[in-house]
Amino acid sequence: MAGSSHKSGTKPSLRLRVTAAAETIVRGGHPWVFAQSVRAQNRDGETGELAVIFDRKDRFLAVGLFDADSPIRVRILHAGKPQVIDAAFWERRAQNAFGRRDGFFDSQTAGYRCINGESDGWPGLVLDRYADTHVLKLYTAAWLPRLDVLAPLLARGNRLVLRLSRNMQEAAANRFHAHDGELLLGEPLAGPVEFLENGLRFEADVVRGQKTGFFLDQRENRRDVKALADGREVLNLFSYTGGFSLYAGDGGAESVCSIDISELALAGARRNFALNADRPAIARCRHETIQADVFDWLRQESPRRFDLIVLDPPSMAKKESERAEAIAAYTKLIAGALARLNKNGVLVASSCSAHVSATEFFNLTLEAARKTGRSFVEWKRTGHAADHPATFAEAEYLKCIYLRS
Ligand code: SAH
Repeated sequence: MAGSSHKSGTKPSLRLRVTAAAETIVRGGHPWVFAQSVRAQNRDGETGELAVIFDRKDRFLAVGLFDADSPIRVRILHAGKPQVIDAAFWERRAQNAFGRRDGFFDSQTAGYRCINGESDGWPGLVLDRYADTHVLKLYTAAWLPRLDVLAPLLARGNRLVLRLSRNMQEAAANRFHAHDGELLLGEPLAGPVEFLENGLRFEADVVRGQKTGFFLDQRENRRDVKALADGREVLNLFSYTGGFSLYAGDGGAESVCSIDISELALAGARRNFALNADRPAIARCRHETIQADVFDWLRQESPRRFDLIVLDPPSMAKKESERAEAIAAYTKLIAGALARLNKNGVLVASSCSAHVSATEFFNLTLEAARKTGRSFVEWKRTGHAADHPATFAEAEYLKCIYLRS
């Protein structure tokens, strides 16, 4: 099969057999085969080569990217009938992902996700667009030997910046000479990238910022927050570079208080306010930034109350074993936020921990609300935006609930 520029020409293709359970899962469309599900393989595999999986009757089952370093040993590219993985295959995959988003966004939004990993047929790979810059974020080194072929397809004439998840940075440098933040195609960047989201101007530090530089997954919730902000005193907890804060200001908030532990993020929030100072509502809004640990800040006694509180913490459970702790942490945060909420105030609480289910998160939020002894009305629950599709359970991470007191 094509697409393997590295050595595999001299070796037989990598063939795997997996457990009966894994066979069923893969046939059902799940994109991961874990190391412990591999029963046999014809030889050792190298990270990045294609692995072909055969079923019990020796028929083709699936083909995927082999990763010798990850517990997810194979990320499935295709299951079903035999499929050649060549340049045309990648071209089709890219076209499908881009085509799927055609017409989603008007000229007022130039920041969105073009490829959302497994759910778009690109396991362990994310591609975000910020105006004329595309940011490729990889969660497995298995893509690195293919970047020569894939970079032009993914850049589509734009600048292309590479970001690597922390756990693969060392392997990427040592074996593939690839580095987090490196420019793959196009002109070097002079600084952060500026882009529009629903008409607001934002900057994203695509080289050093978190994720790919901005949290594009919260776009729809930010728009809802704008509609709720008129005349309100707003508190944005875990504000990062002020995404929610800007929308609240633009929606007519009297004041916005952005709190984050990172001074770098808060400096970004202040710059984003400055970028939009020509909008009258933003110019009128009093914006304050506080560098603090939100857990500590919420513990402090204070008479200050808010009419609209946005709570969007980072993932609290990176693995299943951290679930119980995460639930306790969310409960503390929600209770702390509700204690700062005025009567008729609105709480917008979000979770991005895949290991805490939507039901668990909604239930713990409602339970914390019940415990306050005040009455709350649930307004709305939201999930994934259309540019962040989730086609299997593990990909569903984002959930958000709106409560009014
Ligand atoms: N709501 C943001 C994204 C939040 S990302 C948006 O829409 O853009 C999570 C943020 O929480 C990061 O900026 C990180 O710096 C911050 N953070 C992590 N732990 C924190 C803590 N204990 N206290 C305050 N901020 C924290």
